[in-house]
Amino acid sequence: MKRRLAAIYWIGILITLLMALAAIGAATLLKIDDTRASLSAMLNAASRWTLDSNGDLQTLADEIAGVSPPMRVTFLLNSGLVLADSANDYDRSANHRNDAEIAAARKGETGRSLRMSDTDATLVLYMAKRLSPQLILRLSYPVFEIAKALAVYGTAIAALFLVLYLIQRHAIARFARDQSRQMEDVRRLLDGEIRQVEAVFPEFQPLLNAIAYRVERLRKDYQEIVRTMEIRNNFVANASHELRSPLTSVRGFAEMLSEGLADTPEEQALCLETIREECDRMLQVIEDILQLGRAEHSRDALPDACAVAPVARQVVRSLQPQAAKRQIAMHVEGETSVRVEERELWEILYNLADNAVRYGRDNGDVWIRMDGGRVIVDDNGIGIPAEHLGHIFEAFYRVDESRDPDRRGTGLGLSIVKAIVERRGGQISVESRPGGGTRFILSFDEGE
Ligand code: ADP
Repeated sequence: MKRRLAAIYWIGILITLLMALAAIGAATLLKIDDTRASLSAMLNAASRWTLDSNGDLQTLADEIAGVSPPMRVTFLLNSGLVLADSANDYDRSANHRNDAEIAAARKGETGRSLRMSDTDATLVLYMAKRLSPQLILRLSYPVFEIAKALAVYGTAIAALFLVLYLIQRHAIARFARDQSRQMEDVRRLLDGEIRQVEAVFPEFQPLLNAIAYRVERLRKDYQEIVRTMEIRNNFVANASHELRSPLTSVRGFAEMLSEGLADTPEEQALCLETIREECDRMLQVIEDILQLGRAEHSRDALPDACAVAPVARQVVRSLQPQAAKRQIAMHVEGETSVRVEERELWEILYNLADNAVRYGRDNGDVWIRMDGGRVIVDDNGIGIPAEHLGHIFEAFYRVDESRDPDRRGTGLGLSIVKAIVERRGGQISVESRPGGGTRFILSFDEGE
């Protein structure tokens, strides 16, 4: 990336440089053209001046040259020898016959040439014309001004190049710094060290926001998967444990019977009764597991509204024998209807009211109250210590088995209730304090 940027930068600079050189070249050619035009005009004027003059050639050469310094004026013989020259340092013995401009003048044309001067190392523009069969006039004009301008341009370009090089180094170093900082930020975002990245280049902000959003979602999904795996592993371990205890007991009693260790008919009857009870218990656990599976996974449409009070009264009737045994009074108050199937409603209320009776106190009360899409199941029993409240909806979670010696629950009742309630778009919460009773509050969108 850094190298690519540098390459792009230098290509840009090279193109600029070529354009600058082209501009200088064009300016130089224009300048030469300009000089040539004025030299040509001067040559014509000087020719007329010479032809009109009677003075000696050296004086004339000096006079003409004085009109436009640093112009040089030379009078030559047709043979190429110099007769007079406004510059005093010329070589008198030199023959100029072969100089391009003189050769052309000898043929009667106006000779022109641009070349390095023989005497001083400058570029000179020459122009010559034959004035008479024996006399040739030559004007020459050094274009060292152009050379000077070229030197100035060259120095300026070199300086510009240096400045551009320094700017480029600085800009690329800064860009590289910003880029690595941005990469580091993205790495930290992916590692979960930060939640948001501020883009170094504002155009990238939406993209970085999208990445941050996705990373956050993936992180949550991952946590959810880990949690689900954990729940499932615990579930399998708990379910196996729940089934193993009664199975061990069944096996023990069956062995007693087969080995003839239960002698009397009463002992044998007790063994068989216990085996039956343990089988019932296993069936109950399996039934609850199936029920939980159904509640969690079935995906049918929201059912029609169902009136809660009739179902609550049915539940109360079913639990009457257990409640009566401990003089617990059960009350149904109010009415509402919710979009939950009747069978599911029965399951919810039965589990909650059954718990309320089981964990209720003798001579106590259990209330099922209904109002505006809310169903509240209340008791004034033993309550639940605060540290357990966050766990009671987990599968197989029991607060303390010693609290319920008569009938050991499966620990699945509340998880079934929660699964059904949430599947139907409702919410369940609990309020309780040890010795002060327990209240389960269900809220649904009220059905019409
Ligand atoms: P279980 O089949 O063991 O009753 P639940 O899932 O129905 O399982 O309940 C989980 C635990 O929550 C129970 O073991 C019990 O200790 C506690 N619990 C539930 N309802 C009540 C209640 N009304 N009063 C006191 N404790 C309760």
